[in-house]
Amino acid sequence: MKNIYFDHNATTPLRPEARARMLELMDECGNASSIHKFGRMARKNIENARGTLAEILDVSAGQIIFNSGATEGNNTIARAFAPEKILISAIEHSSLNETLPTSPRIPVTPAGLIDMTALDALLEKNRPELVSVMLVNNETGVIQPIAEIAARVHQAGAKFHCDAVQALGKIPFTREGLGADFITLSSHKIGGPQGVGALVLAPHMSITPLLTGGGQEKRQRAGTENVMGIAAFGAAAKAACADMESFAKLETLRNKLEEVLALSPRVKILGQNAPRAAGTLSATLENLSGETLLMALDLEGIAISAGSACSSGTTKFSHVLKAMGVPENRNTATLRLSLGWTTTEKDIDDFIAVWNKLRATLLKDN
Ligand code: PMP
Repeated sequence: MKNIYFDHNATTPLRPEARARMLELMDECGNASSIHKFGRMARKNIENARGTLAEILDVSAGQIIFNSGATEGNNTIARAFAPEKILISAIEHSSLNETLPTSPRIPVTPAGLIDMTALDALLEKNRPELVSVMLVNNETGVIQPIAEIAARVHQAGAKFHCDAVQALGKIPFTREGLGADFITLSSHKIGGPQGVGALVLAPHMSITPLLTGGGQEKRQRAGTENVMGIAAFGAAAKAACADMESFAKLETLRNKLEEVLALSPRVKILGQNAPRAAGTLSATLENLSGETLLMALDLEGIAISAGSACSSGTTKFSHVLKAMGVPENRNTATLRLSLGWTTTEKDIDDFIAVWNKLRATLLKDN
């Protein structure tokens, strides 16, 4: 049985640098708030990671708040403003989408890009205090022109938040380059451990904490810091950002997969008319349920995702694809293949062999 993991956007295998950092710290004891030497060592390990992320994003260390991941980061932002004063794109991750059910949505074009005319009209009509648009979409890989969006948002007097979870380590960016007041990041999408993330703030910006009752993270996020996780997040970020050229090369492998999939008349590739991050392939497949396809591939040892796997293993129709105008049809599978730092050319060739077999059997495509 094969062992092919094409679900990097759901979570990415731990990078050796992150693993090594965790092993180093596993036997260390120390609360970073304690002033004795054990505490000071824990503090140093956190501050090293903070320095690494600060350098990558070209911010000062004080602008980074560590937390439990991007769901917490997005919730912190969402709950700091009144829902009717927030505008979010129609393709945000469920941690914003479901947290703000009543906030107006900025529509996207069929290519998956923000509809700029609609954005301008909503800014004018709604006078929001906060606007949130993600940099790279987790389902399609589509990259938004964030700097341009942020400029329009600031012009309208609102703050701008960007979920950059799926962009870190894939495309280069800095806080200033995006023009974002708040940025959400997550460790496990770049080869760090799960359950760690960060909120990045513009200079002199603060946020109403979601968790209170402790002075950690400059009183912006209460709770004893996950020292080992944060240190490994820093190691993963350094490795992922140093390896961005390799990531960009995944485009060739992704395109090879797309060419093969597109040979089937039942397959439609999504997001091809927009700039996309290299590793993500999103498609629909007519006359087959997503579950059937997922299971058939799983039996072959190939892991993919149908729609967004981030929401507790469900295969319900994706709000992202719906916003792009993909018709909701129980007989149409939506699939996402996401490649990453462990993907090899052999994985692609093995997948193609299995796919061709399924075309002849399950899909009866010939
Ligand atoms: N935003 C995006 C774009 C994501 O892909 C994810 C993870 N699926 C999240 C937020 C949530 O991240 P976490 O798993 O760290 O809570």
